[in-house]
Amino acid sequence: DEGLRLENVTVRYGSTTALSGIDLSAPGGEVLAVLGPSGGGKSTLLRTVAGLEGASRGAVRFGGEDLSGVPVHRRGFGMVFQDGQLFGHRDVAGNVEFGLRMRSVGRRERSREVARLLELVGLAGYQRRRVSELSGGQAQRVALARALAARPRLLLLDEPLSGLDRMLRERLAVDLAELLADSATTAVVVTHDLDEAFTLADRVAVLSEGRVLQEERPRRLWTRP
Ligand code: ADP
Ligand code: ADP
Repeated sequence: DEGLRLENVTVRYGSTTALSGIDLSAPGGEVLAVLGPSGGGKSTLLRTVAGLEGASRGAVRFGGEDLSGVPVHRRGFGMVFQDGQLFGHRDVAGNVEFGLRMRSVGRRERSREVARLLELVGLAGYQRRRVSELSGGQAQRVALARALAARPRLLLLDEPLSGLDRMLRERLAVDLAELLADSATTAVVVTHDLDEAFTLADRVAVLSEGRVLQEERPRRLWTRP
């Protein structure tokens, strides 16, 4: 499987060039972490892959298919962006189930699957909790469970562990790495945290001023002579 490929992608906001001729790939089943300074183009990269921004040049492909003209909801991608993404009027199970409904899963199977996903993200037994009662970290994990429930062919994560305290972040990074490996999900993860990138990713790209500075397997990054 060819996974995700960006070919010579340029994205502009007016006179600002946010991405400048980017070539990057996340082969099927692999996790690509995108690191780099603020303003480097990380969010723009995710938004462009998601279909929320259009490229002024170049192509975004998934499984070989050119996605230009394919609308956001037809791409089959899951997104966990930084804030305001849970349905506040539903409980935790209602939020996770939303992802399952997209797959037309029957009722009994749904509650089994919700329980399994909540256990995966460390929230076993939280089905009936109100979203408004959750901590920021718990809400992020519910958003992740909801995204995974839809079994997306590509998962886009923008700072999925930001705002958590260090211990929780380290533990969740390990859990998330296992979860992504077990489900063979192709993913792009934007992060500021080098340790997190190394824990999660098969491949790490550094973006700065809209260009890819380095793209390596984690253990080779920074260690070149
Ligand atoms: P990062 O996620 O790495 O912080 P961004 O993708 O948010 O970087 O930003 C890349 C560049 O594009 C920055 O110069 C930023 O100011 C600019 N930019 C991002 N979004 C917009 C927007 N909606 N309108 C105008 N400029 C934007
Ligand atoms: P990040 O935390 O990823 O760097 P920002 O806080 O820079 O994100 O951006 C948050 C939102 O504001 C995004 O939707 C981004 O597209 C938009 N944005 C970023 N820079 C600009 C800009 N210079 N002008 C207008 N919108 C921007």
